[in-house]
Amino acid sequence: MNIIDKRNSLARHRSRTYRRRSRSAITNIAIHHSATTSGSAEAFARYHVNELGWPGIGYHYVVDKDGSIHWCHDLEVVSYHVGNSNGRAVGICMVGDFRSQTLGDAQRNAAQELTAWLISELNLSIDDVLGHIEFPGYSWKPCPSVNMNTFRRQLYNRTGETPGTALPSPTYVAGARQRTFLSRGDQGDDVRALQERLTELGFDAGPIDGIFGPLTYDGVVRFQRSANIGVDGIVGPETRVALRDAEAREEVIEHGSPTDEPNEMEEVHLSESRRLLRYIQPMMRGSDVQEVQRKTGAMVDGLFGPETEQRVRDFQRRHRLTVDGIVGPQTWRALDRVNGSTQPGYERLLSLQSPFMRGDDVRRVQRALNVTADGLYGPVTERAVRNFQRSEGITVDGIVGPQTWSRLFNE
Ligand SMILES: [Zn+2]
Repeated sequence: MNIIDKRNSLARHRSRTYRRRSRSAITNIAIHHSATTSGSAEAFARYHVNELGWPGIGYHYVVDKDGSIHWCHDLEVVSYHVGNSNGRAVGICMVGDFRSQTLGDAQRNAAQELTAWLISELNLSIDDVLGHIEFPGYSWKPCPSVNMNTFRRQLYNRTGETPGTALPSPTYVAGARQRTFLSRGDQGDDVRALQERLTELGFDAGPIDGIFGPLTYDGVVRFQRSANIGVDGIVGPETRVALRDAEAREEVIEHGSPTDEPNEMEEVHLSESRRLLRYIQPMMRGSDVQEVQRKTGAMVDGLFGPETEQRVRDFQRRHRLTVDGIVGPQTWRALDRVNGSTQPGYERLLSLQSPFMRGDDVRRVQRALNVTADGLYGPVTERAVRNFQRSEGITVDGIVGPQTWSRLFNE
């Protein structure tokens, strides 16, 4: 492995530092792509520190297209790359945008070699290697945009570890070993553990007998629905992480990352960092859906259903966009330009916080100050607020309170 130690040479925040953890706290390896067609550890570090105000680069390792590996943080460093799961994950970023590019052999091999080494170093299993999208809360995120089942299967081939079978097992599989997928018909101690866990969380899965029958299936489906993850009644990596996450519900929430996709091209980054919204089952929900509903005149319930889809189509038709009912980067940009009665009024004190405050009110302030309207109250926005306050001759604190708000909007 060609590992280049960059732990002491990358951009770092002047005053902020990441917290540290013990190695035993690490339970997962997170695979990312950079979502940029090119880039480097240096560029990502600069972006994360200078633009996002993070203590340092988000990733522990960056793997170049040529297979060279850049070591950015000790494993003990809790950097930002998977939001609430930062505390337990090590982040590996492969340079590239695999929505449009293909992961080449040199890069894939290097990433897998590194992953395999980390698995043994941290005493993890291949099933603990997850794509960013497989972590709780990220099912919408096209990262790393490589097939993670293939990635894991190749790891199995590389390490000679025996994969758990996804096929229904006629015999009871005893022991602590967890299979990659559990579904109807499976029997074993891992099914029993699953039933115990579901019951513990209040999703009655029938008798705890180690047999994945209709009641267990039903419990899994109800859990998946409530966890807002893919509902298929099958326990795979995503569901397993969600089950474990539910266990950690009482823990202090880790520092969430406003976004973890570094991009040297700001404009591309901003449209890409917005979630793609469309009508699917289960319906997508969130404040971004509400924003779309407000701006298209749909009923504001935060659920992207058929009515919202129709309103989006109408909006797209009016703005001469591709009429597909899907809110992607182009439609987002058009929505961002919508002004008027849909604008939020003064709702709350806005200031630079960690994680960044976000919302339509932030976006409105940004538009008024002529900075990039990404809806995140970061250092650039704060600086613009200070400049504005200075020019208005009011208290210069970088905080948008009622006074600054009324100066901005004459409200
Ligand atoms: Zn990612």
